[in-house]
Amino acid sequence: MRLLEERIRKDGIVKGNDVLKVDRFLNHQMDVELFTEIGEEFRRLYAGEEITKILTIEASGIGIACVAAQCFKVPVLFAKKNKTKNIAGDVYTSKVESFTHGRVYDIIVSKEFLRPEDKVLLIDDFLANGAALMGLITLVEEAGAKLVGAGICVEKAFQPGGQRIRDMGIRVESLARIKSMSEEDGIEFI
Ligand code: 5GP
Repeated sequence: MRLLEERIRKDGIVKGNDVLKVDRFLNHQMDVELFTEIGEEFRRLYAGEEITKILTIEASGIGIACVAAQCFKVPVLFAKKNKTKNIAGDVYTSKVESFTHGRVYDIIVSKEFLRPEDKVLLIDDFLANGAALMGLITLVEEAGAKLVGAGICVEKAFQPGGQRIRDMGIRVESLARIKSMSEEDGIEFI
């Protein structure tokens, strides 16, 4: 998506060789007009697919998912990062290893909101090693719901997540795919 690539070039900040900061428009301050364009692009890509729910993960996916959900006219569910040791039986759970924080945490969704009859589109801001998406995929599988695919804003294609998940036969649509990046040379898109 040209608009998103241009915005990343203009306002994205590369840290080291593998972290892209997009706090100016996506992860901290949020450009909702851009989010609307992104939501409409996901809608166009998944036109013809029946989708009953959008599933994302807290916190940084929620804004994008909410705006996308307006385009799809379906509810948004976000997996919560579980902070307590006791997990009640009325939730689905899976584990995620955080790329940005480097630790493992449980994510949960209530069984009340993710149903076997749901047809689910996953939305997230970044795809790196694929841990966040894998965690969401596990929740959908546990619920016995149908996974339609995933919509990602920025895929760092030099990391293995996208390949791994596509190899599972899951549809992944990424609006900006980064081939390589560095502080010195900037960002190259696919
Ligand atoms: P993965 O689980 O695929 O390794 O990483 C995806 C998650 O880590 C996303 O939900 C996102 O919040 C975070 N993330 C991964 N890479 C980056 C990055 O380069 N920049 C930012 N801002 N977040 C990232």
